[in-house]
Amino acid sequence: MTGTTAETVTSHREADVVAQAPKQLFIDGQWVDARGGRTLDVVDPSTGEVLCAVADASEEDGWDALKAAERAQAELAALPPRKRADILMRAFELMHERIDDLALLMTLEMGKPLAEAKGEVAYAAEFFRHFAEEATRIDGGYQTAPAGGSRFLVTRQPVGPSILITPWNFPLAMGARKIGPAIAAGCTSVTKPAAQTPLSMLALGEILSEAGAPAGSVNILATSTSGKVMEPLIRSGIARKLSFTGSTSVGRTLLEQCAGRVLRTSMELGGNAAFVVFEDGDLDKAVDGAMLAKMRNSGEACTAANRIFVHRSVIEEFGRLLTERMSELTVGRGVDDGVKVGPMIDANQRDKVDELVQDAISGGARVLTGAEALDGGGFFYRPTVLTDVPESARMRDEEIFGPVAALTPFDSEEEVVAAVNSTEYGLVNYVYTESLRRGLRVAESVESGMVGLNQGVVSNPAAPFGGVKESGLGREGGPTGIDEFLETKLIGIAMD
Ligand code: NAP
Repeated sequence: MTGTTAETVTSHREADVVAQAPKQLFIDGQWVDARGGRTLDVVDPSTGEVLCAVADASEEDGWDALKAAERAQAELAALPPRKRADILMRAFELMHERIDDLALLMTLEMGKPLAEAKGEVAYAAEFFRHFAEEATRIDGGYQTAPAGGSRFLVTRQPVGPSILITPWNFPLAMGARKIGPAIAAGCTSVTKPAAQTPLSMLALGEILSEAGAPAGSVNILATSTSGKVMEPLIRSGIARKLSFTGSTSVGRTLLEQCAGRVLRTSMELGGNAAFVVFEDGDLDKAVDGAMLAKMRNSGEACTAANRIFVHRSVIEEFGRLLTERMSELTVGRGVDDGVKVGPMIDANQRDKVDELVQDAISGGARVLTGAEALDGGGFFYRPTVLTDVPESARMRDEEIFGPVAALTPFDSEEEVVAAVNSTEYGLVNYVYTESLRRGLRVAESVESGMVGLNQGVVSNPAAPFGGVKESGLGREGGPTGIDEFLETKLIGIAMD
């Protein structure tokens, strides 16, 4: 493994942050052990060693949490919007006050480099600030019926208790992106973080409690038996909404469970982003953008550039520049100085990345750098660039979720747009060209909820995030993010 030995974080400080982190379930404003006393281990993916154990919720704990959310619903909904906004603003401030500890905790449980973890804490906090502002702008309407005689009064009300399920790759931001609009709209919630990364979300529960969230309005459960604990809650009819971020396959299962009680759903699912570099694109900027789109979160992102299509006339140069940048990256524990690429979340994920790489190579892809796992206790994979990745390679259809750039040449705009769209996913695509006309034409033709035009990152709390096709339903963030947690009610008024 490459990397400097200079440690920016002492092992004493690591132990301290873990020792101080909440490890129980947060139900009805109280920290409680799981009924039956079960715990689950949290592993540091950079060493493979257990960091600590947290309470492992049972089905009974799930019911306790949902019933607490049900009881608290009327109180939260009745809080004036300004008061709901104040809770979120206070949480925003506390997250910034504690950014170093929150980032370290995230790095330890998830592996991402500290600088990225800090970026995620700030990004997550921004959802609270954004939705604090939106809470006071929930509007309605008053209209004369077209035939006269009556009036339409349109108001908006919270959907009701909501179940929020989040993945391990952005352990804080994916929760804040749901809890923020839920509180702003007046919806209580039960959040279930991924079993591999519960610590960040539990720390967020502590912050929200300190920020004044009423007891029962925010409940947080870690569990090693997600399906067993969550399915009865989803099917109960008590919850009126499910907001899920995770894989398309789990999303499909949850959609089926939601159908029984016709729950409102928001689904942020998998991606298979294309990154397209035209012959008139600025190659240096395109390489910068590709590094962001590919290497943010060490490639473990739904927005990661999974397929990089480069015009045949510039692919050699692009490949050379990208390889230079990828081979310079320091791989190591996220807490160490200068580390840019952390471990994969677990051995399975690392092995899956390698399997996809070996499959592409056996189909004819050429290795420009990397293409191997690294020895040692952690789950590291060397930053990799492959070129001439054939259409038959599995990584053209499956999320790589690792630090692997897969390049394929193309000859025409028509051909590349067809290739971009030949996937069931539709979350985001990236396009590099200096022609505004071509850029807009391609941005309009690609089937995705988002497009990065000459930029490698599109996520922003103030912009609508989400996908089309099997990448999901609904949008998070932006001016409409709060709508996912609001129902529209018509009050028809007789005037004669
Ligand atoms: P995952 O396996 O689908 O898990 C996501 C969450 O669902 C976890 O909390 C998981 O709990 C839970 N879960 C799994 N099975 C469940 C069930 N039967 N009932 C209830 N909950 C269940 O996804 P992941 O591997 O954690 O995350 C990676 C995926 O998320 C990728 O596909 C990525 O593209 C996607 N993602 C999408 C976005 C977006 O905004 N579109 C953002 C980030 C990630 P356990 O931990 O207990 O399994």
